[in-house]
Amino acid sequence: MTAPTIGVLALQGDFEAHAAVLRRLGADPREVRTPTDLDGLDGLVIPGGESTTITLGIEREGLAEPLRALASAGTPVLGTCAGLIVLDRDHLGVLDVTTRRNAFGRQLASFEADLAIDALGGAPLHAVFIRAPWVEDRGAEVEVLAEVDGHPVAIRQGNVVAVAFHPELAEDDRLHEWLLDRAAARSASTARAEIRRVA
Ligand code: GLN
Repeated sequence: MTAPTIGVLALQGDFEAHAAVLRRLGADPREVRTPTDLDGLDGLVIPGGESTTITLGIEREGLAEPLRALASAGTPVLGTCAGLIVLDRDHLGVLDVTTRRNAFGRQLASFEADLAIDALGGAPLHAVFIRAPWVEDRGAEVEVLAEVDGHPVAIRQGNVVAVAFHPELAEDDRLHEWLLDRAAARSASTARAEIRRVA
């Protein structure tokens, strides 16, 4: 089995920390800066950072349409913090949600919390929040995985998981593992389809 190639959008933000986690888990991370960098990816991470800067970069590089196409083709995507904002209705429109930036206010600019996420099983996930957004409004297809103070901070819509915190900063790789499991399942079913086609 070859290592899955996982793109990390590398326009701004903490993409290197995500690449390090992916490498540690045996994947082959690829920094994504232009549309051709998306070719043949098995999965994609949109990291935290500054959503305004990342969005400007997406526009500048002509990445909006290719990113939407990648997500709607079923490629697993993990968005974190600013990545959640970038995926929402007001930005790429991949997720049927609106988000509120810096939602926890000045006093709570940064905090940590242990989140019970049933879908991940096991112990609560330790989550580091840094000027985090929350999900303000969501469509029926959006599943809430975790909340803080009644506000969704981890969601899933089909092949896309997005969280308001920074999983790459905690010593818990379960969200990145979800991405890799999903990427492996997808390439296995593509391979089966290929075998059927050839047979
Ligand atoms: N506050 C940032 C924004 O609105 C997100 C913060 C983060 O990604 N840590 O873009």
